[in-house]
Amino acid sequence: MKAQFNTRTACITCGSANLKQVSDGLFDQGPLHAFLSADPWGESPVPFLAGKPWAYVQCDCGQRFHKYVLTPEWNDINFSRWMSPEAIAEFERTRGAMKFERAAHFVKHTLQLESLIDARPIRVLDFGCGNGEFLTLCHQFGFETTGVDRSTARRDKAGHVLASIDELGDRTFHAITLFEVLEHLEEPATVLATLRKHLLPGGILILETPDCTGVERIESRHEYDAIHPLQHINGFTPETMRSIAERHGFKAVSKPVSHVTASPVKVAKTEARRLLGKVLKPTTQQYFTV
Ligand SMILES: [Zn+2]
Repeated sequence: MKAQFNTRTACITCGSANLKQVSDGLFDQGPLHAFLSADPWGESPVPFLAGKPWAYVQCDCGQRFHKYVLTPEWNDINFSRWMSPEAIAEFERTRGAMKFERAAHFVKHTLQLESLIDARPIRVLDFGCGNGEFLTLCHQFGFETTGVDRSTARRDKAGHVLASIDELGDRTFHAITLFEVLEHLEEPATVLATLRKHLLPGGILILETPDCTGVERIESRHEYDAIHPLQHINGFTPETMRSIAERHGFKAVSKPVSHVTASPVKVAKTEARRLLGKVLKPTTQQYFTV
C-alpha cells in the first residue's frame, strides 16, 4: 500500500497560485532516501513512499513550503507508526542537556508573558502542546492552562488537553503559544485565523519555528532537518513568519527580555543583544498581539 498525499496548489500564506518549484525529487531516491532510511523513529516509511514525489515550492510573497503533504489518515500513521511513542520516549530520555535548555527557555517565555499581560490569572492556550511541558510550567506560575494536541498518547500525559481547535468553543485567552508547530500544519493560515478569535484584545501570540532562511533543497542533514517533507512541510523565515501572522490579524510586538541563568556572562550577552536589538537580524521566534 502506498502513502497518499494532498497537493497544495495555493500559497499557505497569501493564497496566490503563482508558485515556482525550488527543488524536487522522489522519496526513494537521492539524499532524502538515505536520510529517511537512517532515521530511527520506528517503522520505516520508505516502502510506503516508493516512487512518490516531493516538491519544495516558493510563492512570490517569499513563502516556501512542500507542495505534497500526507493526507490526514497517512499523517496519523506518520505520527503513530513511523514515529513510535517508544522511539520518542527514548529520544527524550537521552537528551538531558537539551531538556535543561528547553525548560530555561520556557521559563523565559513565562516571565515575558507575565510582564506583558496585566490580567490575573493569565489564561494560556498552548496549541500543539505535546507532552505538556510548557503548560505544566505555566500552571506552577499560577496561569490557567489549556492545551490542544492531535496525539492521543500525548493528551493522556498532559492532563487537560483538547483533541482539536474545534473543541475550544467560545473560550478566550490572554496568551496563545505555538512552539515548533506552524511548520507542521497543512493549513497554517486557517489555524492562525481561528486562533485569532480566541485571543483577547491586548493578548499575546508566540510563534516559534525552525529558521529555513537559505534552505532550498535536501542534500545535507541540516537541510533535511529543516524541511523534512513528512514533518516540516512549511519553511518559515523571520520575514514569512511575520507576514503570515500579519495577514491573519496579528500585529508584531517586540519581545521583552528576561534572564534565566546563573551565568553573569550570559546576562551580559543577552543585554548586549537587547541594546543592539534594532541592528540585529530578526529570528523565527516572534511575539504578536491583536
Ligand atoms: Zn504567497
